[in-house]
Amino acid sequence: MTPTILSPRWIIPVEPAGVVLEHHSLVMEGTRIGAILPTKDVRERFPVGMERTLPHHVLIPGLVNLHAHSAMSLMRGLADDKPLMTWLQHHIWPAEGAMLSEAYVYDGTLFAAAEMIRSGTTCFADMYFFHHVAARAARVAGMRAAVGAAVLEFPTPYAANADAYLERALAHRDEIAGDACLKMMLTPHAPYTVADGTFKRVATIAQEAEYPIMVHLHETAGEVESEREKTGMRSIERLEKLGLLTPQLIAVHCVHVNDSEIRAFANAGVNVAHCPASNLKLASGVAPIKAMLEAGVNAGIGTDGAASNNSLDMIFESRLASLLQKGVSGDAAALPAHQLLRMATLNGAKALGWDADIGSLLPGKAADITAIDLSHIEAQPVYDPASQIFHAAGREAVSHVWVNGECVLDDRSLVKLDLPEVLDKAASWQSRFAATQVGAAA
Ligand SMILES: [Zn+2]
Repeated sequence: MTPTILSPRWIIPVEPAGVVLEHHSLVMEGTRIGAILPTKDVRERFPVGMERTLPHHVLIPGLVNLHAHSAMSLMRGLADDKPLMTWLQHHIWPAEGAMLSEAYVYDGTLFAAAEMIRSGTTCFADMYFFHHVAARAARVAGMRAAVGAAVLEFPTPYAANADAYLERALAHRDEIAGDACLKMMLTPHAPYTVADGTFKRVATIAQEAEYPIMVHLHETAGEVESEREKTGMRSIERLEKLGLLTPQLIAVHCVHVNDSEIRAFANAGVNVAHCPASNLKLASGVAPIKAMLEAGVNAGIGTDGAASNNSLDMIFESRLASLLQKGVSGDAAALPAHQLLRMATLNGAKALGWDADIGSLLPGKAADITAIDLSHIEAQPVYDPASQIFHAAGREAVSHVWVNGECVLDDRSLVKLDLPEVLDKAASWQSRFAATQVGAAA
């Protein structure tokens, strides 16, 4: 096997923490990272012609988007400036009710994958209907994905009731398990849409099959309060009683959590997906992520769907997380750049149970790598490349992306996807989705 050698200006491996390697090369052997060595040693050891120099670039582990609803990118901007329940009940759910199909999920996920790859994301944790179709789109785009099988009580064009959702969830398990770049999750939507018995069955199946469980949790103050009125408990307490607080759980949002709930998460090893842009745009609030990290909770970063963000830009999302925590806590040291990078890579991988394979640049791990070009005036001069990535460069500086050793973005060009075709499809879906909003309540 002929190795490919990447020789950038800097490598930030994430492990060990805070390290920036200068004038080192990464040796890619097939799907794996073979070695990381000083560039001068590599030039002595390997014949010429294998090396790809990236003279102004920093290599980082591919970004892990810990919470997305990829297909919903086709609803980007469909219903802005609404609070969560109005947005869901009057706009998103009626639109999905009219449009939900395998074709929509496939085209929407490919569309989202194109944006994610161009933003340096190599892996996404998806939560949507027709998860096996999202998995096929991820494979075509050349991305790594944890696809979440939707679980709800109410009928949609995808399934009629909780039994049918669970049946559909398991129908494609072998197809997904057979691909090293795919993984399945169970994704009960939220405490207000899933019954106790269904949560228990999800927990049992997930434990046996070692699937992560992803659930929207304590997103808005109103939701926490109405669930307390309905069940006599806050939802975290309810999920604890149902046996869901385990290291397999990825709790999404967690905007309204108190100190004892944060301690419960830390003690149980629960993971959190932090989605600050969506939380701000739906006016849900700001999650106390600094307190969670200090308590020892593993927290990664997610964009949520582009229908509530409205982008899938992990670099922007991470920067927003940092600025918000600094501003809200009054501590300028909150979420420094190297910790942000760890959250956006290794913490996400750990939440998905994928940290033995991805999330840092170590020999033996999969070659999921993002290169960012810091030569542009907006990113100069460079004192610390980690700071430049989040606070100066932005996703437009992402130049190359490899997933499992395969180049999927080459000098800003998508290798596996036809961008004009992806854009044409998005435009045709736009007119169909717009028609679903005629007569929708404000
Ligand atoms: Zn979500």
